[in-house]
Amino acid sequence: MQLTVLGCSGSAPGPDRPTSGYLVEAAGIRIALELGGGVFGPLQQRCDPFELDAVLLSHLHLDHCADFSALTTYLRAHPAPPASFDRLRVLAPSHAPSRLAAAHAASEEELDALRLADTFDFVPLEEGRFTVGPVSIEVAPMRHICEAYAFRISHEGASLVFTGDTVPCPELVALARGADLLLADAAWREQAGRANYLHMSGRETSVVATEAGVRRLVLTHVLPWSDRDGVLADAVEAFTGPVSLAEPGATYVV
Ligand SMILES: [Zn+2]
Ligand SMILES: [Zn+2]
Repeated sequence: MQLTVLGCSGSAPGPDRPTSGYLVEAAGIRIALELGGGVFGPLQQRCDPFELDAVLLSHLHLDHCADFSALTTYLRAHPAPPASFDRLRVLAPSHAPSRLAAAHAASEEELDALRLADTFDFVPLEEGRFTVGPVSIEVAPMRHICEAYAFRISHEGASLVFTGDTVPCPELVALARGADLLLADAAWREQAGRANYLHMSGRETSVVATEAGVRRLVLTHVLPWSDRDGVLADAVEAFTGPVSLAEPGATYVV
């Protein structure tokens, strides 16, 4: 299984990086994991969007799904779609069809005419297991300001866990138990009085990684105004395995 970082900036793009977006490939299956603003370009460097087997969205904040609109335009306006293309599966929170349509259409008329179900097969997420070909996706609800999920993506014994946006919670530790790689929301450094319903700090991700016994920790979703080196230093202090900051273009073999 291979994970490629398309974008990794948290909440808003940084000067040199789009927001959340990753490509997961295994056994010929391609899954776009999050489609934050700016990642549709790098995605096309790696595959033809018509070749995607699924889109997986942890939640519907725009730093995780703004480029769903770009994907929609590409798939619907392309003059020569492959004959084999039917509909693209989208595993996302239950209100994704209406929310993504509203984000795409510029007027009520356009919204009335926009039938996303012609292009996408929306599958509402819930706690449990989903499959895309031979790839297994275990889904667990997380603790964020809105409906949000984390994923454990597995193939042939290898497992990758993506936290989405969440604060630390037992559900995340359980989902990540023994994973080969934990791709974790590490928005900021510790700060007194921080809201307890949004994100993890670098230190908190490493505590989760240690409790879950993961092999490798990759920090992502660092906010553009956060101290990246500090976030990394805090994580390294509390986790004894390999820790790194996600970078656009980085690839991990899991
Ligand atoms: Zn976010
Ligand atoms: Zn969010």
